[in-house]
Amino acid sequence: MCDMSHYEKEENLQLTRKLSNYCLARGIASEAEPGRIEGGEDGITSTLAEELECVLTMAEQALEFVATGTELLAPATGNAHGEYGPTGINLDYERLDMVNHTVGDKMRLVLHGADPFTLKIFTRCIKAGVTKININKGVNKHYARVQESMRGQPLTKVIEAVTNAMQNTVEEYMQWFGSAGEA
Ligand SMILES: [Zn+2]
Repeated sequence: MCDMSHYEKEENLQLTRKLSNYCLARGIASEAEPGRIEGGEDGITSTLAEELECVLTMAEQALEFVATGTELLAPATGNAHGEYGPTGINLDYERLDMVNHTVGDKMRLVLHGADPFTLKIFTRCIKAGVTKININKGVNKHYARVQESMRGQPLTKVIEAVTNAMQNTVEEYMQWFGSAGEA
């Protein structure tokens, strides 16, 4: 993954192009992110589209990323990295549909900031062309929860329990995403 979204637009594009060329020559898929919505610990002030307009991915921008040769694109459609804050999750599905139509079969879409999403949200995003979903806390929180509840117990027992908790979560996500039995 080539997340250069913390750089300014031109630098992001330039670095993405450089890395995707390097990867392409070696048969490695690369993933880029045009703009980043940062929720941090406390969440963003507002997740409403009109407030985020300048960060949300536009058609022109999506095409610029197609031109970098990167195979995977994680558009900004209201998805936040970190916490979602007081206005909650407000994804701009029309924008996601638009990005999907714009990139066509040139790029596959990826979902970032998806940890607190519900099955309904995931299903809508998959319908809009999302083919890869990056999950972090959604899995790790189960590790942390079980580890916390087993304080003082033998390490091997704890490792087995946390591994099982994460495996159950991954299995559930695979059912949700329609990837179960597809490997
Ligand atoms: Zn990201």
